[in-house]
Amino acid sequence: MTFTVIEPGSVLGVLGGGQLGAMFTMAAQRMGYQVAVWDPDPDAPAHRLAQRSFPTSFSDQLVLGQFLDLVSAVTYEWENVPVSLCRTLEATKPVRPSSTVLHIIQDRLEQKGFLAARGFPVVPFLPLTNPEQLPAVAGKIGYPALVKTATAGYDGKGQWRITCKSDAEQVERALYDSARPGIRWIVEGLVTFDRELSILIVRGMDGQTGVYPLAENEHEEGILRTTLVPARVSSEIAARAAVLARQVVEALQGVGVFCLELFHLSTGELLINEIAPRPHNSGHYTLDACSVSQFEQQVRALCGLPLGEIRLLNAAAMVNLLGNDATSISEPSCEALLDTPGTFLHLYGKRTMRSRRKMGHVTFVADSLNLAQERAQQLRRRLSSGLKT
Ligand code: AMP
Repeated sequence: MTFTVIEPGSVLGVLGGGQLGAMFTMAAQRMGYQVAVWDPDPDAPAHRLAQRSFPTSFSDQLVLGQFLDLVSAVTYEWENVPVSLCRTLEATKPVRPSSTVLHIIQDRLEQKGFLAARGFPVVPFLPLTNPEQLPAVAGKIGYPALVKTATAGYDGKGQWRITCKSDAEQVERALYDSARPGIRWIVEGLVTFDRELSILIVRGMDGQTGVYPLAENEHEEGILRTTLVPARVSSEIAARAAVLARQVVEALQGVGVFCLELFHLSTGELLINEIAPRPHNSGHYTLDACSVSQFEQQVRALCGLPLGEIRLLNAAAMVNLLGNDATSISEPSCEALLDTPGTFLHLYGKRTMRSRRKMGHVTFVADSLNLAQERAQQLRRRLSSGLKT
């Protein structure tokens, strides 16, 4: 396969300028690239870091032309950017991962259908196009079930739990209220898992892949709260997750960084919950605990460069700072936090605080996972008590 390497000095485009776009920008700039960020939100943190910033709608045709003139290649920081925009960009400049991959991943029904058709393990699921059919479809899946919007949901948003038939009727009304033309939902079996796991993988232009260690995640109300690495599972399960990750990105022919979110069942089975076609919150530990971060790998894969060699340098525990947590850590001072050995504080510089919004994260690295986890638990306890102790 021949492809042109995009050399440092070139301008890389990124769609989306949240914390993931900002961390991509920092990694690219460190490697000598310039970055152009396109995000409709003028307050998106990456706008303040990038050499060029386009705080306009993704449908702005004037900006489309300017962006295309400027950039040598384009990536994105999350899967809800418009596929149509990626297709247009791709006609002139490389977009990685491609719009075809984005199209599959962006829609939960497409994604689960793609995986199931190729024999990858997923939860039982059925499509729903009309809220009226919910009781029947949920009945077929079995209770408890979960309804999710097929597109545009994240961090547990656009999800409803159904534990019995009368719940289904209630949720049916909620779906009518949130319905838009053409909207579809996915109805999934609500599985009981022992652990939630995730695995990051990067695939280069030459098909080479690199897999990060398996991570173990704890969620709260659908939002990631803590990640522990390496996950406390057998080496057989870790190896199986790595094989799964490689097979999935091969099947997608994806180029870039991907994350598989997995459920580990008590039977030992691993089910794929979802795939992210980009760096992932559960991979933030790679910034401080690995030989190469997920963001540097995103730059390398985008530019057709060799991938970085992946080594876990320390055990790590990452805690998300949600909503008020980010200000609480500085009350009265963040000294106490930063006085702990192996502590890395990341604040995203978001101007508006909202409840449960991801405002930053803290990674604790240590020789043992127990120690890193203990420090993470200590922070969690202090956060839940308002850091007054
Ligand atoms: P998602 O938006 O699909 O990543 O879901 C957010 C969180 O909801 C996951 O991390 C799980 O904790 C939970 N969840 C999602 N789907 C299921 C499912 N089918 N069964 C059990 N829990 C789920």
